Amino acid sequence: MTLYKVLHYPHVLLRKKATPVEKFTDQLRDFLKHFINTMYEFDGGGLAAPQIGVSKRIFVVDFKPAFESDKFEFKKESFRVFDSNNKEIEAKFPMVFINPTLVEMSEPIKVNWEGCLSFPNAESFNTDRFLNVEIHAQNEFGEKFSVKSSHLYASVCFQHEYDHLDGIMLVDRWNKNAFSEADVIADIKDFENDPAERKRMKKLKVTEASKIKFDFL
Ligand SMILES: [Zn+2]
Repeated sequence: MTLYKVLHYPHVLLRKKATPVEKFTDQLRDFLKHFINTMYEFDGGGLAAPQIGVSKRIFVVDFKPAFESDKFEFKKESFRVFDSNNKEIEAKFPMVFINPTLVEMSEPIKVNWEGCLSFPNAESFNTDRFLNVEIHAQNEFGEKFSVKSSHLYASVCFQHEYDHLDGIMLVDRWNKNAFSEADVIADIKDFENDPAERKRMKKLKVTEASKIKFDFL
């Protein structure tokens, strides 16, 4: 199993606006397996393709641990999945979102616990998000589906991952007076330079996905 290198802020590829996926190939599905594996290895609840330097409109999520925790208690009616005929289907994780669109967002909320694998070790600040979200997307075979969420963790995660596809980072969502850009970068550098982390990364043998010529690009 391959692991892809997760790019950290302020890497330039994180700022690139991703383009839609047009070819749903075997190589795309193979890539997704490793991409999902990468999300799990680094303990993410979600991961967007631009975070590993692949500038396509793809993200993956697994809300199961959050839904099972006391903090984000899961209620069936707060997370509903529908197939292309608008028939309700079972939510299965990990869940792949290709070419997603956020079609409805309501009830603004403020959250302050949002984390990001591209900001390891950095402090997080208040972010404005919506509680009710409807998202339409395609799966790894190009089949359309949609999700209606009023689950805090899931709705925030959708908006966070979607931002990555447009090159929008957490720092853009924070109040400019609340934090120092230099401190954020210093925290990330401390993480990267930590001997234990360096050793771990060396052991994991990560692949730079931006250097691979995938057939779905
Ligand atoms: Zn992120």
